[in-house]
Amino acid sequence: MDMQPPREDWRSTPVPDDGAVQTTHVDAAMAKASCAKLGYFEDKYTELLIRQRPPIRSPLIHRGYWSRVEAIRRTVLRFLKKCPEGRGVQIVNLGAGFDTLYFWLREDTARWRDDLVFFEVDFPEVLSKKVAALQKRQSLWPMLDANSAAELVSTGSSGMREIRTPHFRLVHADMRIKPELSDAMSDAGLRGDLPTLFISECVLVYMQAMHGDSIIEWAASAVPEAPSAMVMYEQTNPTDRFGKVMVENLAQRGCPLLSIHDYPSMTAQRERYLARGWDQCQLENMNEVYSRYLDHKDVERIQKIEMMDEFEEWHMIQAHYFLSIATRAPGGQKSAEDERAGDNWIHHLDVFSEPGPAVTASNGSMPDAS
Ligand code: SAH
Repeated sequence: MDMQPPREDWRSTPVPDDGAVQTTHVDAAMAKASCAKLGYFEDKYTELLIRQRPPIRSPLIHRGYWSRVEAIRRTVLRFLKKCPEGRGVQIVNLGAGFDTLYFWLREDTARWRDDLVFFEVDFPEVLSKKVAALQKRQSLWPMLDANSAAELVSTGSSGMREIRTPHFRLVHADMRIKPELSDAMSDAGLRGDLPTLFISECVLVYMQAMHGDSIIEWAASAVPEAPSAMVMYEQTNPTDRFGKVMVENLAQRGCPLLSIHDYPSMTAQRERYLARGWDQCQLENMNEVYSRYLDHKDVERIQKIEMMDEFEEWHMIQAHYFLSIATRAPGGQKSAEDERAGDNWIHHLDVFSEPGPAVTASNGSMPDAS
């Protein structure tokens, strides 16, 4: 979600419903398509899947989405690079919406691995739209290992139209219901013995804390015989002035940040993961991610795409989003001597390691530029 003032005709906070949360995927897809159009990042796929032409968004929103997408992509590449090759690997995008990460990986042999299976989980209402969109885009079928509509779409046990190709599986489930999630994942072929990365990009914050907790706990136990990681990107810090406005805006739009007050800080989020089966959890706010951990040349490149002078607001927004990476290995954390032999590579994804010299450009990458 982006930061916009509440519309004037919303006088009272509407009761949240699943429909409002489901449509947050449209906001995300439109903003990502707008970024791609202007060259912030490569993504020819989102625009193919959404029905409308994306309205071009503001430079602030583009920069925010660029850093969000880059942070997730960087994490995914680190995970795939560190994970032993050829023995199988899984990625599970929880609340995937119309995300196109699978296609971004698949389009480039330097990124793709033939032993990867990619799962996308979302409400049936959202995924049925994605199935229909993919079915219309024949140009995408080869990337899904399908030669025909019949090879692409099948009818599942529940009667729903599904996509279950060798490398790409859509999983229709309300993730708040643990047995529904775990049964649907087993049905889609999730294996408990392959290294797995779970992704949650602007998803858990929109549900009640106990539901997000149960998903975090499920993910920690879903792959008992292999190492796993969970990357999350979402809002934080609801209690300062800016945070209160952010919380209020989203509540007014009908998709309140239902768990943000239960986990109001990065420290609280870290504890949340450690208490639910994860061995380690590293987090950084998005100001840090942007100025220290994303590729500096790329930061310089995107800063030249559009003029932006709202530095104060930019740093405020970024201070209210964070990236976290929780990791676990079977049998818990091993001692230092066991490291080389064991699965401890998962604890060394090095997403928060500096890629190069600090950016010196004066157009907004460093906090003192404001
Ligand atoms: N991760 C995507 C989409 C974010 S929008 C991206 O960043 O582009 C949030 C998504 O989470 C929506 O598609 C919504 O339908 C999904 N979602 C929220 N609660 C869910 C639930 N209980 N079960 C399944 N999906 C859910």
